[in-house]
Parts: sequence; structure tokens; C-alpha cells
Amino acid sequence: MRLAAREVTAGYPRGERPALDRVSCAVESGEFVVVAGPNGSGKTTLFRALLGLQAATTGVVELDGRAIDGWTRPDLARRIGALPQREEPAFPLRVREAVALGRWARLGPIGRPGAADEAAVTRAIAATALEEFATRSTDTLSGGEWQRVRVARALAAEPELLLLDEPGTALDLAHEMSLYELLARLVDDGLGVLAITHHLNAALRYADRVVLLDRGRVAADGPPREVLTAELLTTVFRWPIALEVLGDGAPHLVPRRRLAGAVPPDSVQIPEDPAR
Ligand code: ADP
Ligand code: MG
Repeated sequence: MRLAAREVTAGYPRGERPALDRVSCAVESGEFVVVAGPNGSGKTTLFRALLGLQAATTGVVELDGRAIDGWTRPDLARRIGALPQREEPAFPLRVREAVALGRWARLGPIGRPGAADEAAVTRAIAATALEEFATRSTDTLSGGEWQRVRVARALAAEPELLLLDEPGTALDLAHEMSLYELLARLVDDGLGVLAITHHLNAALRYADRVVLLDRGRVAADGPPREVLTAELLTTVFRWPIALEVLGDGAPHLVPRRRLAGAVPPDSVQIPEDPAR
């Protein structure tokens, strides 16, 4: 299964420039794609466009070669799991019930969950290590636990692709890394994942491909070690960023301290303070 944006331009009324300007990118089964870029670079707009929630003024989004508008919502919901950036639980449910909501597009005509539905919910709870929370009320969860419930709910639908908009934001570093480990395992099992993140080092560790957005355009799209270079990131984020190599040879990105008073924010010449 392959979801692709081709030359998509999209924007908002009164926007000075389009939020997305001829953006092409794709994710397919068994592939881990990270979308990165500064605040306002168009990441969430791209997420919405890929789901058919944001109209493209030019270009197309296609799922397996068919325009996204040509799919019914339940058909899409069986194939694509999506975690928007923000969502508060509307009303408290037990964790297992909240995860079971993910099955809605797979329930039969009577709408009653059967054995296959229960099994899928159990698998999703196990995959996200939520067993001990299964009977807890969702309004008693920490931010990180609630985030895992949302991932489990998406997995319960047994999608072929999973799109996540900044899923690690509310998580401490261990929970964020274990979320990436979980996604990597799911990708090994054939799921296609497209995750928006500001965690560039996680992208270096886990992504097969990184799409770097800058002011609505694709600045680079390729393997993480080719896209996430100190030079390109310093230009795109307008901040001095260095690339270190750890003892085991793994690259690691480090934002430096900017030389005091050196540059206006929009300059592309960004000297770093050599002492820090
Ligand atoms: P990101 O997720 O990368 O931070 P967004 O896709 O949310 O960026 O936003 C891209 C651009 O579109 C920004 O300039 C933002 O201000 C603008 N934008 C986003 N949503 C709206 C909206 N609902 N109305 C008007 N402008 C918007
Ligand atoms: Mg966003």
C-alpha cells in the first residue's frame, strides 16, 4: 500500500504564501518515513492533505494510485491509522474501551464486536504495553499513557499505514524512545509509518527516509544521513547545529549556542559560538 502526494499545493485564506508549495512525498508498507521541519513549515498541513482533510489547490494525493477523494471514509479508516497532533479525551472511558473505538470501521453491519475484534484490541494493548492500564479510566492517565492509548486505538484498526503528527511531544525520553522502538517493530512487520517529529536524532536512528520541509517546500527527501546534515539543518532551522559522531560511530545532532548578537534570525549565515 502506498500513499503519495504529488506536487501538492495547499493553503489557507489570507495566507501570504501557500502552506504547501508543490510538495511531493510518499510512504509505503514496510517503510518508516519521518517528516521534519521548523514550526510553520507545513508539516500538519501535509498530514491533513495526505488524509484527504485538506484540499489541494493543485496536485493530487493518491492511495494505491487512486485519488484520496475516491475512497470512502470507512475504506480509508481500515487502511490508514492517524494520530493528529492534539486530542483530549472527550469523555472518560476505560482504556480497553477507548482502544476498541479503533475498530469502528471494521465492525460488521450489526456493529457488535466479535472475537476477531476483541483479539485485535488485545493485540494492540499488548503492543503498546498497556495491559496494566486496561481497566483504568482514561481521565486518570498521564500524557504519555494517553498517547500510548491513542497509538493502540489506531493499531486496533489493523491499518496498513500509520500517520502520526508529533507523537513524542508529551513523552519523556524513555517513553518517546519506546514509542519509536514500537513503530520500528511494526515497520519490520510490514506497517508503513509516516511520523512528523522535531526529534531529529530519533529520525537519524529510526527513519528509512526523511522529508525535510522548509516554508512549505521540500528542502530534501532521502536517507536520514544524507538529509540531516549540519549544513542543511543550520540553513533550514536558522540556528547553528553540529553533527557529532558517537563512540559507536552513530551520528548525533547538537544545537549549538549562537554567537551573541551575531545574526538576525533570517540570515543563512549562522556562526556558532566555538566555546559552547
Ligand atoms: P507545522 O505543522 O509545520 O508547524 P502548519 O502546517 O500547521 O505547520 O502551518 C503551515 C502554515 O500555515 C503556517 O504559516 C501556519 O500559520 C498556517 N496555518 C496553519 N493552519 C492555519 C489555519 N487554520 N488558518 C490559517 N493559516 C494556517
Ligand atoms: Mg504542526
